[in-house]
Amino acid sequence: MSEDPGPLGPRQLNRLRVIEALYHHPATSRTELARRTGLSRATVSSLVDDLGRAGVVEEHAVPPEPRARNTGRPPVLLSLAPGAAFAVGLDFGHQHIRVAVCDLSGEVVADGWSTSEVDYAPVESLDLAKALVRKALSSSGITRDRLLGVGMGLAAPVNVATGELQADGILPGWHGIHPAAEMQARLGLPVRLENDANAGALGEKVFGAGRGTGEMIYVRLSAGIGAGLILDGRPYRGAAGVAGEIGHVLTVPDGLICRCGNRGCLETVASPVAVAALLERSTGRPVSLPRLLELVSQGDRGARRAVADAGEAVGRAISALVNLLNPELVVIGGDLAAAGAVLLDPLKQAVQRHSVAPAAAAVQVTAGALGDRAEVLGAAALILARSPRVLAQRVADQEAVT
Ligand SMILES: [Zn+2]
Repeated sequence: MSEDPGPLGPRQLNRLRVIEALYHHPATSRTELARRTGLSRATVSSLVDDLGRAGVVEEHAVPPEPRARNTGRPPVLLSLAPGAAFAVGLDFGHQHIRVAVCDLSGEVVADGWSTSEVDYAPVESLDLAKALVRKALSSSGITRDRLLGVGMGLAAPVNVATGELQADGILPGWHGIHPAAEMQARLGLPVRLENDANAGALGEKVFGAGRGTGEMIYVRLSAGIGAGLILDGRPYRGAAGVAGEIGHVLTVPDGLICRCGNRGCLETVASPVAVAALLERSTGRPVSLPRLLELVSQGDRGARRAVADAGEAVGRAISALVNLLNPELVVIGGDLAAAGAVLLDPLKQAVQRHSVAPAAAAVQVTAGALGDRAEVLGAAALILARSPRVLAQRVADQEAVT
């Protein structure tokens, strides 16, 4: 793993541009690659030849999508070789830990999952994560020289500059712990920490519904409600890593007390826990999230009403973000997204109704494409983002030897 790859020469820098373009836009023709990089078609072809010989770029025999018109010979499409680099994604939920070893295309080559009381047992959770990563890596058979590091998502705001959690009231047991340093010491691999909603946003942006978009909001409806913002193509975290805490937007002024200490936050009315609590009150029986989703799919009127109202409340909160940020895409992920149209239709209507007309016209609201893997894939993408630089350096090193 080369942390500081050192300076690259002009040809190597052009190669880096080609690799970066293919990282963000896989399955690209040589002509398109020339347009994206601003290099000539001849230069691109020559660079691509180098990269092909080095095993970094591959040609596709068959275009991945059917073409709109039949205009003769299909163009040869190029992508980075998926196996040229790998990263580990780690997702710490409130009650689970998930691990995925991913290649450059986001394909999971090995994974693992375990329940854990993450909120109150940080040391046990970190130890468990270590065991899960070790097991996944050994079953993947990936050599260390291809492994770039570990990305880690955690359900609390993260100060990326200091590596500290802003965990007060959000993740009670983790106060004073530096999760990335702890994980790095356990694994002997570079580790980067990210808030879970930001990781989910990155996952959907790089590998899922948000591919190719520059202005995107990812909203995660799980035990907590969070948003990850992609602005101008990059994650936006704010001054202290707290940007996107949509779950703590005031929704009901005289509502219930929230775990953050305020009253009437969006989480108190629209998290899966809050929705399930509504049904428990009316039926007198505990309702788990799987049971809630089952009731919705069976057409239970109370369950559908509760989920629809939650969708509307989330949509109203999102409309404020739409007015402020003018995104092109809002991606809805997290556990409650599995409720489908029952949740999404009222959510979309609320976004349309409460956003200013041009912003409402510009925004598309959709369910995530990655489901409950968005966070773990995004955590891996945090590390894979370094791959263009690492690969350009690897090719330069190979050249220096020959
Ligand atoms: Zn709150």
